[in-house]
Amino acid sequence: MTIFRSYINGAWLNSASGRTSLNIDPAHTDDVIGTIELASREEARSAVEAAHAAFRSWKRTPAPTRGRIVARAARLMEERKEELAAAITREEGKTLAEARGELTRAINVVEFCAGESRRMVGETIPSELPANFAYTIKEPHGVVAAITPWNFPVAIPAWKIAPALVAGNTVVFKPATLTPMTAVLLTEVFNEAGLPPGVLNLVLGSGGEAGDEIVCHPAVKAISFTGSTETGLKLYAQVAPRGVKVQAEMGGKNPVVVLEDCDIALAVESTAQGAFGSTGQRCTATSRAIVIDKVADEFVSKIVERAKSFRLGPGDDPNTDIGPSVDESQFTTVLKYIDIGREDGAELVCGGRRAEGDGLENGWFVEPTVFDRVTTDMRIAQEEIFGPVLSVIRVKDFDEAMAVANDSEYGLSSSVFTNDVNSTYRFIDEIETGMTHINSPTTGGEAHIPFGGVKHTGLGAREQGSTSLDFYTELKVVYVDYTGRKREGNLY
Ligand code: ADP
Repeated sequence: MTIFRSYINGAWLNSASGRTSLNIDPAHTDDVIGTIELASREEARSAVEAAHAAFRSWKRTPAPTRGRIVARAARLMEERKEELAAAITREEGKTLAEARGELTRAINVVEFCAGESRRMVGETIPSELPANFAYTIKEPHGVVAAITPWNFPVAIPAWKIAPALVAGNTVVFKPATLTPMTAVLLTEVFNEAGLPPGVLNLVLGSGGEAGDEIVCHPAVKAISFTGSTETGLKLYAQVAPRGVKVQAEMGGKNPVVVLEDCDIALAVESTAQGAFGSTGQRCTATSRAIVIDKVADEFVSKIVERAKSFRLGPGDDPNTDIGPSVDESQFTTVLKYIDIGREDGAELVCGGRRAEGDGLENGWFVEPTVFDRVTTDMRIAQEEIFGPVLSVIRVKDFDEAMAVANDSEYGLSSSVFTNDVNSTYRFIDEIETGMTHINSPTTGGEAHIPFGGVKHTGLGAREQGSTSLDFYTELKVVYVDYTGRKREGNLY
């Protein structure tokens, strides 16, 4: 059986505590992928110390040289694309097509960040004084912690590790314990690309213990977190007294607004893809469809028909459209929310149960589920479910649609379906989300375009694109006086 180990200061290490846990395929729970050697607090501490010791020399390495190593990592990811995609499918459950899509995104992001190494530019600023000028330099923080979830186990770590390294930080990477295989492969790729020991360290361990030790370590100067709002806000509060920089990408409750003039077939297909694709386990998944009354009956009957047409199964079967929930706990959460929806009075119009059938016996499969006549006060309209569950909320007009769409503590993504130019731009102005899509699903994004949310979804600088290095750098301002004389008068 494969053993997954932490990688600290250039070496793969067994757990000093001897504690382990199992990595299990969510589509076949009898398939034990391997054993995880769980890092204790002590090992988490040594990972931070290794990163701290490696920092000085990595910071002094010219940015384009750092970028060349990161570019090599992108090439190695390309070479090992199928292996990485198969690993995602086996331990996370998404289909191979979705896993390959994730890899493409990850490779694009790493390539983009490598290029940024030649663009770590500052500004030159004219001074108020003669024979003086000022300029800015971008500098790294030191040790950065990358704390990541299981749902995009390659792309999310890649879009934190690559910019952190390019900027000159050293990294302690703490992935979710559900996806150690991809974390090990990604760490291998970055280190094979030529990183010196200690520059990137992997800690496989629980959030409450290894994760907590990392975030509490005084040498950790910045934390980039993706995961639940509960954990993200807790971390933020926990490190605030130390003045640690935090970037957090947290929950979502992403709405589509379906206006009466839209192309209904397009709205239905995009909503179905957004709600049920990747088993609803995307931070940008569509979970609310806010539909104008006039077209609601048609929308609901078509989305129910489409939801029933998805084929559930193991992600490595080419006929599968939707894989399982990632583990028993997530599966139970989804079924619990379906019960809550029923109890709160929403109308279950399709799905709502554990999926049964050939090949589904040993996996955490839930039927694609649609609730109609959901109201905004219901828990299924407010809380993130992270499963293939869509809530349809019927509204009378555009203004009510916007009020409902914005009645959420979250603000990651959204979309509107309309062919009316005025409604489109009113929607763009009024919607309270960090990203929005016009006539396309709430999901998806490109490597060179900033990604992130507002309200309780996002904290700190946006990830990726033109803003990808913002979180990972500090600005140093330099004043140069080349008069060679004592300054006359006071400058403020
Ligand atoms: P998800 O359920 O989406 O994985 P979580 O917020 O539970 O979301 O976890 C996201 C990441 O945060 C995981 O890597 C997890 O191990 C880590 N984590 C959880 N609790 C803590 C904590 N107290 N300190 C540091 N990291 C944590």
